[in-house]
Amino acid sequence: MPEFTKWPSFPFEGDIRVKQIDDPVEVEPSRKGEDSADCVACAAPDEAYIWVSDRWRVRAMDQPSGLPMVLILESRSHLDLGDLPNLLAAELGVMTVRLERAVRSLDGVARVHVNRWGDGSAHLHMWFLARPYGRLQLRGTFLSLWDAILPPIPEMQWRENLALVAAWLAEFGGRPLAEPPHIQWQAPSSFSADGDTDTEIGAGTGTTRESDSNGTSAPTPAEPISSVAALEEPDDEAAATQAASASPDPAGDATPTNA
Ligand SMILES: [Zn+2]
Repeated sequence: MPEFTKWPSFPFEGDIRVKQIDDPVEVEPSRKGEDSADCVACAAPDEAYIWVSDRWRVRAMDQPSGLPMVLILESRSHLDLGDLPNLLAAELGVMTVRLERAVRSLDGVARVHVNRWGDGSAHLHMWFLARPYGRLQLRGTFLSLWDAILPPIPEMQWRENLALVAAWLAEFGGRPLAEPPHIQWQAPSSFSADGDTDTEIGAGTGTTRESDSNGTSAPTPAEPISSVAALEEPDDEAAATQAASASPDPAGDATPTNA
């Protein structure tokens, strides 16, 4: 087994083995949205984002995940990283630094990891993953996996954070679209047994969900994004995952079976 499986940050333990590597394909499959005509990012209305400007847009996942903040920076134009003209390339540097600072300014965030994979969707999208303060086990390259493993952060805190980041970015221009959650002053008559008060408090207050009333005029609703893996997973792998999902192995002790 490779050395990294012994690192404290490696999320799994127990009996695991390395998958057999497939033979390389002759021709690679196209990525999602290779053509701008069927690109989800191009079709998404501004309301699906937490902040927009003339040339850039920032969006969140469609729901809270394990990390304090996970954001995607997208160019408004249908371009990939290597295709950016000089103006956008320079602005990408400025936007990356700005967004890193904004996310790092949130309570409980120690570090912001910036990633670009680009195997899943063609439209340029940079990931900003916040590593929670004090969680040393989350340091490093497995952070995107931990995001899907840890329990989601409370929705109210997540929406507050989104609004803070949007407001921070708007200090330099553009338009903030995420609003802080409205506090429900009227206490619920009884606390629900399943403890979903966070969801109730936060429900309907954000602008990042396509189900919001102000998003209904949009020609094409934004495709919900639940995690890094969901967006970065190539289509052909997603199909293979669905086919193999019959085995209900929890992530913690999954023994990979070659499909
Ligand atoms: Zn596009």
